[in-house]
This record gives sequence, structure tokens and C-alpha cells, in this order.
Amino acid sequence: MYFVANWKMFGNLKSINTLDKVIKFSKSKEIKKGRLIYCPPNTLIGSFYKKFQNCLIDIGAQNCHESDHYGSHTGFVNSKMLKSVGANYVILGHSENRKKGENDKLINLKIKSAINAKLKVIFCIGETLSEKKKSKTKSILSKQINVGLNKIKKKSNIFIAYEPVWSIGTGKIPKNKDLEKIVQFIKSKFKGKSPKILYGGSVNPQNINDLKKINNLDGFLIGGASQNAKKFIDIVKKTYS
Ligand code: PEP
Repeated sequence: MYFVANWKMFGNLKSINTLDKVIKFSKSKEIKKGRLIYCPPNTLIGSFYKKFQNCLIDIGAQNCHESDHYGSHTGFVNSKMLKSVGANYVILGHSENRKKGENDKLINLKIKSAINAKLKVIFCIGETLSEKKKSKTKSILSKQINVGLNKIKKKSNIFIAYEPVWSIGTGKIPKNKDLEKIVQFIKSKFKGKSPKILYGGSVNPQNINDLKKINNLDGFLIGGASQNAKKFIDIVKKTYS
């Protein structure tokens, strides 16, 4: 199982000390088969890279520019630059960025550039509450997948994170039976081997006991709770207990 920590726009140099507990845990038998990936803000990727030198915790970024080249794009970094400072993953299509105007076509270009730079992609998809109420979940997910992954043949480096927008940071999570159907639906969109599928949205140490029962899920994308080392470790431990 993969446990991806999305720190969003939180954290500074001092917060790096909170990782000691997680590093210790990552070297213990308690981690079982859990794979940990931290996605801090870009300002901290280099420091996380140094901190994780002697352990198996991996690093990802939270977004990238769509261009493969260096260029005049003030305020942005591309996937090559992220790879060069230690990132092996990048989260793309997060709803917080879709809300700011990123559309499926732009996300598709970003995914292609990330793959060219040999980054693994955590591709976020999910419906809003009003789309859910109008029973549009499947058509929204289909469009996000079809356009987002258009002309990308090799999908082995892509993870799909199903993150219902109404669940992010709200404490609300889908019912297990609904989530299972959606995981099945996402898998059915792929001929042959489907990408690994993660769930994201308000995962915490209280609800993980229910969420871990979902069939065919390969892990979790965790925002708020991942910023607290104890909660993050608890989520992993409970997944395997
Ligand atoms: C996220 O930001 O991807 C996320 C799932 O956040 P939270 O766990 O806080 O809902």
C-alpha cells in the first residue's frame, strides 16, 4: 500500500524535525509493506531529500509546469527541475489547482512532461458535490481520465488518486460500497493492467479502519492528517492491524 503525504502550502525548515518519528517508523518492522511518499512544498524538497538519505521514504512535488524546457515562466518550475532536486513523484490534477483554472488538457500536458522527466504521476480525479448530486460522477471521472491521459500509452508510472472534491478537508468520506464501485469503475476504464488506485479525502486515524476494507485499493493520498507525524504513522499502522 502507498501512503502519500500531501503537505499542501504548509511547512518550513523547522517542520523537518517532525520527520524523525516517521523515519524511525520507516525503518521498523511495523511499517510492514507500506510505502511512504512525502510531497512537501517545493521550498522543502531539497531538505527532505537530505533528510531521507538513509531511508526508503520517497519524495514528490505537488505540481509542475507543463513545459519540458527551461523558459520565461516566472514563479514556475518544471518536472525536470523537480527531478533534479530529488523528487520522484508529482501530484497533478489536484482539485485545489483545478479550481484555480487547470483544465484536463493542461493536466494532460503536465502528465506528459512529468513522464518525460521520469517522474511518477499521482493523477487526481474527482467530482464536486453538485456533480455528485446530479449523478454525474461517472461521466466526470471518464472525461478527466480520457482527456488527462490522452495519448499516454505507457501507464505504469501513473497512479490515479480518486479524490471526491466534497471530501477534501471536510471530514466527509464516501460510503465504502460507493467507493468500491468507483474503484471498479476506474479500473474498468483501462484495457489490460489498470494503474494503481489511491483514495484521498479526509483520511485520518479514525476512519482508516473502515477505508482499509475497500477492495482493490492500493493506498491513500493524505492531506491534513499527514502534517502530523503521529497521525500519519497511526494511519499506516492501523491499515495493517
Ligand atoms: C488532499 O489534499 O489531497 C487531501 C486528501 O486532503 P485532506 O486529507 O486534508 O482531505
